[in-house]
Amino acid sequence: MNEVKEEIFKGLPASKGIAIGNPFVYRAELPSYNVDIPFSGEVSAEKEISDYEIAVSQSLKELNKIFNLAKEKLDEKNLQIFDAQLSFLYDDYLHTKIKNKIKLERKPAFQVFKDEIKVLENSILSSNDEYIRERVNDIEDIKNRVLRNLLKGRLVSKITENSIVIARNLTPADTILFSNRNMLGIAIDFGGINSHVAIIARALKIPAVVAMHNISVSVTASDFIIIDGYKGLVVKNPSEETIQRYMQQIEHNIEFEKQLETLEKLPAETKDGKPVLLSTNLEFNNEVDYIVTHFGCDVGLYRTEHLFLEIGDFPDEESQYKQYKMLADHIYPKKVTIRTFDIGGDKLLPDSQKELNPFLGWRGIRICLDKSDVFLAQLRAILRASAMGNVKIMFPMIASLDEVQQAKKFLETAKEQLREKNIKFDEKIQLGIMIEIPSSILIADALAKEVDYFSIGTNDLIQYTLAVDRDSNLVSNLYQKFHPGVVRFISLAVEAAVRNSIPISVCGQLASDQYASLLLIGLGVNELSVETASFLIIKRLIRLINYSEAKKIAEKVLIMNTECEIREYIVDCFNKNIGERLISQ
Ligand code: PEP
Ligand code: MG
Repeated sequence: MNEVKEEIFKGLPASKGIAIGNPFVYRAELPSYNVDIPFSGEVSAEKEISDYEIAVSQSLKELNKIFNLAKEKLDEKNLQIFDAQLSFLYDDYLHTKIKNKIKLERKPAFQVFKDEIKVLENSILSSNDEYIRERVNDIEDIKNRVLRNLLKGRLVSKITENSIVIARNLTPADTILFSNRNMLGIAIDFGGINSHVAIIARALKIPAVVAMHNISVSVTASDFIIIDGYKGLVVKNPSEETIQRYMQQIEHNIEFEKQLETLEKLPAETKDGKPVLLSTNLEFNNEVDYIVTHFGCDVGLYRTEHLFLEIGDFPDEESQYKQYKMLADHIYPKKVTIRTFDIGGDKLLPDSQKELNPFLGWRGIRICLDKSDVFLAQLRAILRASAMGNVKIMFPMIASLDEVQQAKKFLETAKEQLREKNIKFDEKIQLGIMIEIPSSILIADALAKEVDYFSIGTNDLIQYTLAVDRDSNLVSNLYQKFHPGVVRFISLAVEAAVRNSIPISVCGQLASDQYASLLLIGLGVNELSVETASFLIIKRLIRLINYSEAKKIAEKVLIMNTECEIREYIVDCFNKNIGERLISQ
């Protein structure tokens, strides 16, 4: 029996699975204050000085990059902030002083740096001039940047095998980085089930729970925990009985996965013979072989922004070409839909310049249209990879006709540039857009005339239709997939696609949800592009339903006026019809 009492914390289930192990409490926001820095024994002054120099030069690199981006967006006055920050990083007098102190006092670089900055901040704060006093914020920003770079390697290396990462929040980049360190599970205070961290966790098959509110302060390194990614729970210091129960569930899940595998070679077709194009979303290269050998399906969405997140910058044309070509080759003869960068404003600007509403800001196609070099390089790379005829292009975050037309002009320019150099590409490459902003649905007839296909991004469509941040734990109860407004928008988009004879898919999370998929098929969606973890579950659903029934369900739902009514009705239909068929299988 455990002596400590078992405690259960509830949040939202973001990625299925059970993780049992020791927590690693990660504190990204304040690396300098709370981190238990692993200094055992002597401090090597040489190593500290060299780490310090690397951290400063890395910070300079980052800041210069941001400065170049900011030049396009900020006025002279705001740009001065960066100037001030850069000159601080170029201050040789300061660096020499810090390095000398490391040598003399044999203290870790981060400690000396922090102390020196404190002295500087105090002297600034003692000024009579308010403008000068405010500069403390700029120093704070740059201090955190240098400290983050200085501590990065040490923090990451602390995530040892069998650890479950507990944090206030994780960025998609953190999640990718930690996945290389045997991260067993994730529990974070913030986030929604459709936040990008959750999407990445699912792609990596790492059990995750989000919106846990205070988990980052409720769990310490000495606890033992279980992450229940099905129910959205963290069990702290579980009893022997609870551990046994979860171990049994893990065994049961393995059995269930085996049963699902029997569906791999069977067609995705309803009981009454309607084929549904079932494809998958691809996030990471290590999923490619699995997709080819186990699913043999198209890739309905490849999010290229992960390439950006991995290196913290726009990858050049050549490295993108290699990546896209590798995908096209592996997936061939099936097709791969490559979506152009959908980077959010929050991932580009430094803390001091963050947009207040990054989801309503400089994001997706807006950035690409402003940054012609980046956009053209990506389009050329995708086109070059399309030579075998199995690549499709997709533009995200389309709100207006004008944006599609501008983006198409870029595509034409990229094609022209390749033709001039006699570089081969698919002249008939298919072009589609994401339908994820409500305005695009209201002008869908006009948009349909410009493109070959639509793909509905329900993750964003829900947040923009209901004005509910997909990342916010405070309003996660209002992020309703079955809200009648959302269902009707989807139906309108399908009708527009049908009127204009173009196919329409769903590549947002709704397609990976059994209940929602039943409705999407009934609404007439042609293709479901689902997360790899849900592929066989959705195939099983398709094979258990009648299209004629799904259509009737959708018709009924379209005249309902509340989310609760729709949700209860769909769950009821699912349990009555599909549930029974499942049991009698
Ligand atoms: C969506 O919005 O549903 C979508 C597929 O795109 P992302 O999740 O990358 O924003
Ligand atoms: Mg989206």
